Amino acid sequence: MKEFKNFIHGEWIATSKTFPDVNPVNNEVIGRVHEAGRAEVDAAVKAARAALHGPWGKMTVAKRVELLHAVADGINRRFDEFLAAEIADTGKPHSLASHIDIPRGAANFKVFADMIENIPTESFGMTTPDGGQALNYGVRTPRGVVAVISPWNLPLLLMTWKVGPALAFGNTVVVKPSEETPATATLLGEVMNEVGIPPGVYNVVHGFGPDSAGAFLTEHPGVNAITFTGETRTGEAIMKAAANGVRPVSFELGGKNPGIVFADCDFDAAVAGIARSSFENTGQVCLGTERVYVQRPIFDRFVAALKQRAESLRPGDPYAEGTNFGPLVSQGHREKVLSYYEKARAQGATVVTGGGTPEMPESMRYGAWVQPTIWTGLPESAAVIQEEIFGPCCHIAPFDTEEEVVKLANATPYGLAATVWTRDVGTAHRMGAALDVGICWVNSWFLRDLRTAFGGAKQSGIGREGGVHSLEFYTELRNVCIKL
Ligand code: NAD
Repeated sequence: MKEFKNFIHGEWIATSKTFPDVNPVNNEVIGRVHEAGRAEVDAAVKAARAALHGPWGKMTVAKRVELLHAVADGINRRFDEFLAAEIADTGKPHSLASHIDIPRGAANFKVFADMIENIPTESFGMTTPDGGQALNYGVRTPRGVVAVISPWNLPLLLMTWKVGPALAFGNTVVVKPSEETPATATLLGEVMNEVGIPPGVYNVVHGFGPDSAGAFLTEHPGVNAITFTGETRTGEAIMKAAANGVRPVSFELGGKNPGIVFADCDFDAAVAGIARSSFENTGQVCLGTERVYVQRPIFDRFVAALKQRAESLRPGDPYAEGTNFGPLVSQGHREKVLSYYEKARAQGATVVTGGGTPEMPESMRYGAWVQPTIWTGLPESAAVIQEEIFGPCCHIAPFDTEEEVVKLANATPYGLAATVWTRDVGTAHRMGAALDVGICWVNSWFLRDLRTAFGGAKQSGIGREGGVHSLEFYTELRNVCIKL
């Protein structure tokens, strides 16, 4: 049985209150998580503040770059342990976690470490009222102590996507990982100590949201900025907490993303792309596609081809050769997803495939398994077309014109991502301009260049991170004006 303790000022802090960590493949308890109370959260924020004014704040940029590269190398050195920890918490297939989650965890430190050596700054010469000269230039300073609140779907990837730039730009952090997936954030604490990151720079507090570590952290007056990835409703609660002391927030929130397939597309590539965007990570990707619109001439053929893809997915032991479909993260989430499967049926959907739970061998019988599911025939007002399910499912509807599909695609309160499939470059540009989203992929999905802006429109987020956008959030820009 593993023990997941809080990591504060480089030390492992146990508490008297613990909760179980469960493997969703078989519902077995694999560890005990030590829940942080107000006292531990306060200690973590104070440790972060002390490091900010102490060794981290005084360190040269060159040394900081060297240490962040060492963190990335440290993750790679213990790659198999990170992989095992992530798989045990989420049940995701080895093939997926080893290609996406863990490599991106390391890359998130490398990319931003490399960036800080090349940050440009603005400067303006001016003529003063008395005919003299003055020079203005910008100086960037860290925000201070940053609270990082992260979700369970890509635990290491999404947490380091914030910790990497926050540390690179000179901040210190207190991380509250999801209660469902405490393992890799904890393991990263070991790496931080191993490579010599000063105590207090990276802290981890475990627990839940309301009345627990999440709320204690976001309410803490010693936190200077809050970066959060998770549900839109949680974002609302955190924004209220951030209002005290007018602290800046960066929010990456929920989505109900459209996939749009034009009749002129590369058909096989579109089927493969939508299959990935709807079912990869068992549909638990914020950028995933839960609404598919297919131009009428290829509608029937597309539905049949996607059905075949869904039915070829192999749920099973994450380590087994050929497994490409994992369980949902928890029994609680499984109940939520299955309730939507029920709603779709009750509202009269045609269930093209799935709609229930797969037969699993005895050893995995109690896991959080559901079937990949495709529906057709529902009105746009249906719950499964309007609300984020965060499961391996999509509804497919036909469309005729570009104008019509843009209207359909934009008709939810969310605006995170879209994936568009067409061979017409004109259509591609027009869709890129018309879709109300933070990211519009054309003939691709989840193709990420970490220098680009990442975030959501409408209720899918506030602000952007990535490249210079992370620089904007994680630093204050001061103007210095010198009369010459
Ligand atoms: P969640 O909002 O339930 O939880 C996320 C984190 O917030 C957890 O660590 C949780 O403990 C914490 N939390 C909950 N209530 C809190 C409160 N009142 N104060 C402080 N912290 C609180 O989200 P989840 O279920 O872990 O993740 C799934 C959601 O995340 C989906 O909606 C998905 O779309 C979204 N998501 C968005 C992105 C993106 O980049 N836009 C990426 C991944 C996931």
